[in-house]
Amino acid sequence: MGKITGFLEYERLEEEHEPKEARRKHYHEFYLRLSDEAAGTQGARCMDCGIPFCMSGCPVNNIIPDFNDLVYQQDWQRAIETLHSTNNFPEFTGRVCPAPCEEACVLRINDDAVGIKSIEHAIIDKAWEEGWVRPQPAAHRTGKKVAIVGSGPAGLACAQQLARAGHEVTVFEKSDRIGGLLRYGIPDFKLDKSVIDRRLEQMRSEGVAFRTSTFVGEQSPARGVGSDATESVAPQQLLAEFDAVVLCGGSEQPRDLPVPGRELDGVHFAMEFLPLQNKRVAGDRGVKDLWASGKHVVIIGGGDTGSDCVGTSNRHGAKSVTQIELLERPKDMEFNESWPYWPQRLRTSASHEEGVERDWSIATRAFLGENGKLKALRAVRLEWKNGKMSEVAGSEFELPAELVLLAMGFVSPLQSMLEELGVEKDARGNAKAATEGPGCYATSVPKVFAAGDTRRGQSLVVWAIREGRQCARAVDEFLMGFSELPR
Ligand SMILES: Cc1cc2nc3c(=O)[nH]c(=O)nc-3n(C[C@H](O)[C@H](O)[C@H](O)COP(=O)(O)OP(=O)(O)OC[C@H]3O[C@@H](n4cnc5c(N)ncnc54)[C@H](O)[C@@H]3O)c2cc1C
Ligand code: SF4
Repeated sequence: MGKITGFLEYERLEEEHEPKEARRKHYHEFYLRLSDEAAGTQGARCMDCGIPFCMSGCPVNNIIPDFNDLVYQQDWQRAIETLHSTNNFPEFTGRVCPAPCEEACVLRINDDAVGIKSIEHAIIDKAWEEGWVRPQPAAHRTGKKVAIVGSGPAGLACAQQLARAGHEVTVFEKSDRIGGLLRYGIPDFKLDKSVIDRRLEQMRSEGVAFRTSTFVGEQSPARGVGSDATESVAPQQLLAEFDAVVLCGGSEQPRDLPVPGRELDGVHFAMEFLPLQNKRVAGDRGVKDLWASGKHVVIIGGGDTGSDCVGTSNRHGAKSVTQIELLERPKDMEFNESWPYWPQRLRTSASHEEGVERDWSIATRAFLGENGKLKALRAVRLEWKNGKMSEVAGSEFELPAELVLLAMGFVSPLQSMLEELGVEKDARGNAKAATEGPGCYATSVPKVFAAGDTRRGQSLVVWAIREGRQCARAVDEFLMGFSELPR
């Protein structure tokens, strides 16, 4: 512990950021990492608790008290070594993780939590600036070949770990660029794509091969699921050519809202809208014309995806942006009521701060249009009692809407590849595989493994990284009989 009285002397520091009026005009990141000095002061607030609840709150079990202390001591090189020992990509989590570690911080019982995420962000960005993040190619090659399907954070973490263990790794991706939802879900203003590109350069130098625009499977992706694939590979071919196959295809099948008027021009899944903007920012030409500009936009669904639609619609110059949610408005809890667990409370993202009308306990009954074009939606208010909802009599109302974005979550991974391989599924249609014990991450099909959202259902970047790392160790053990990779 660096400074014994730090938590008494210093207040939590937030990262500097651009005012909302200015940032609404562009798609760049607008949070600046803490200065070295500010991060040191923030690290000094850590109490180095006997039981570091923050570490169990963090899905990759980052060794938080150690890097807090190292940053307080300005020993940045050891801080990045500590951070990289549990997390392949702290630059992603330091930007987009909802930081369950901070909810579990002991200081949060009666004060503001240590700004762990901002310290993580500062460590990794400084490490890149200083040139400390270098390729770590394997000392020996094993001659074993592994195919990974899907290039999101789970696939990338798994690929990097396996390449460093000496295996020949090829990542197959149906999109035209690598990164999964980091690339084509999360907007650039939350995660600049150059942050992914520099990591991919490191991975290429470590021997990872990437095959983009390649769909693994024989059937086309289902409705609502994007694909830029120009070629396909049969799953059986992967089984024949590789020693192990890892499924990291995410959970892309969006939840639909089959009410009257669903077919109207103007009703879209969020993931038909968000990736287009990322492609425009990347400089692509001929991107499909789907804009929020000058429109009344209604976003259905209150989670991360909905919030990203709010930020993107405002940047397009929407006439109005409204976000509605079926569930009731979360109660404002006492701040320590649920400690050390994740509290149910109203969360206001940076995109929400930029401007949105939010409303809860609303069910959409129909989409209304003229000449095939969306004009409004009809909805009804709900009352929630003991977890059950009922409609409030006479509460029906209409909202003007020229663009509706459905952001109500994702029901399952793409089923076609799982079915073509004959992989057993759980009750929700995810690839079935345990995460503990012998044979963990292995599916019901010999030499086929699964990790990330494809296995656990739509989740978080940090959970995908955890599963990718743990799955890599399971694959390494399967191929070699033992593994020195960390779990
Ligand atoms: C809009 C949006 C915003 C989000 N924001 C956040 C956030 O701020 N913070 C956070 O922690 N989490 C966020 N999430 C969740 C997070 O992005 C996911 O949990 C995480 O990316 C899952 O990682 P993954 O590697 O399992 O899958 P994915 O990132 O979904 O990657 C899977 C990849 O597999 C490819 N693929 C699938 N099937 C095939 C096939 N048959 N052949 C070839 N390729 C295939 C897909 O094209 C995709 O690129 C967000 C999700 C969305 C949709
Ligand atoms: S990865 Fe997320 S939970 Fe873990 S330390 Fe970083 S911000 Fe906290």
